[in-house]
Amino acid sequence: MSRARRIGVLGGTFDPIHIGHLRGALEVAEALALDELRLIPSARPPHRDTPQVSARQRLDMVALAARGVAPLQVDDRELRRDRPSYSIDTLESLRAELAADDRLFLLLGWDAFCGLPGWHRWEELLEHCHIIVLQRPDADSEPPETLRDLLAARSVGDPGAIDQVSGQIAFVWQTPLAVSATQIRRTLGEGRSVRFLVPDAVLDYIQAHDLYRAPH
Ligand code: ATP
Repeated sequence: MSRARRIGVLGGTFDPIHIGHLRGALEVAEALALDELRLIPSARPPHRDTPQVSARQRLDMVALAARGVAPLQVDDRELRRDRPSYSIDTLESLRAELAADDRLFLLLGWDAFCGLPGWHRWEELLEHCHIIVLQRPDADSEPPETLRDLLAARSVGDPGAIDQVSGQIAFVWQTPLAVSATQIRRTLGEGRSVRFLVPDAVLDYIQAHDLYRAPH
């Protein structure tokens, strides 16, 4: 029988993917000894799309960034739907494809984690996966009351030692890289360079397709 796999999931708009996403993904993959970390670009309502940058182009850039970098993988399941997916739907669809004892780790920033009680069917998430909270120095706010009880019941100290199929919460410290896709779009819109904030292959793609340029 084959060994259970350890699979991480990082969703985002990746508009565009940048070194903050990539460095964070790699650090978590190492801390958790993941076999695979899936980058899952999210669909957006058409009116929320960045003008001139399609979902396909966001996906292409994620694929270019992940190419040849083990254990990063691209997963386009949310883009195969034309509207935003709930995380619970994405996890259920992943679970349906995996072996019953594969471990799934949902990666969330501290802010996203604090907003969890507002998510569709959020209490079921831990039936399918573990939740890994990515910690950055700015994450000093208090979690809401509901989550404090959950944390008391489910958190574990050493994320690398998690061996159940699902149901636990752990924190992973990240090298702080104060870069955001918003900043990258703004910089490009002003006609300045984003070299070294995105992988070279992503930069080449942005230039070749003339993305994120101010309308002229
Ligand atoms: P935008 O500026 O367009 O809101 P973003 O740069 O925050 O985008 P998202 O696609 O929204 O990127 O982020 C996807 C995930 O990556 C989120 O969980 C987010 O917390 C994480 N992330 C974003 N930027 C960084 C960073 N600099 N370092 C570590 N993780 C990051």
